[in-house]
Formats: sequence, C-alpha cells, structure tokens
Amino acid sequence: MIYCCKEHVELALDIVVDEYETAPILEEIKTEGELSTTCEYCRNPAAYIVGN
Ligand SMILES: [Zn+2]
Repeated sequence: MIYCCKEHVELALDIVVDEYETAPILEEIKTEGELSTTCEYCRNPAAYIVGN
C-alpha cells in the first residue's frame, strides 16, 4: 500500500497500475491530523491510501 497526499494521489495510482496491473483501491484517510503518516513522495501528511 502507498500512503500519499492529494497532490501525489494520481502518481500513486499510476504506480500501482504499473506494478500490479490491477485496478487500484483508493481509500481516503479520515483521521487526518491524528496520524503522523506522511506522503511517500513528499513531506505532506498523507490523505489517501492506495492499495490493490
Ligand atoms: Zn505528496
């Protein structure tokens, strides 16, 4: 799974499609501010989890 911010969600979706060749699952993180999870591609707080 990839944690990503709103800016990088499209990038994460592309990567999942490329790597797994399946339709990715996009899950919004609703506890924003409580978790310290950061985006994989920058230092912003993650807003979405991209899985497959
Ligand atoms: Zn980001």
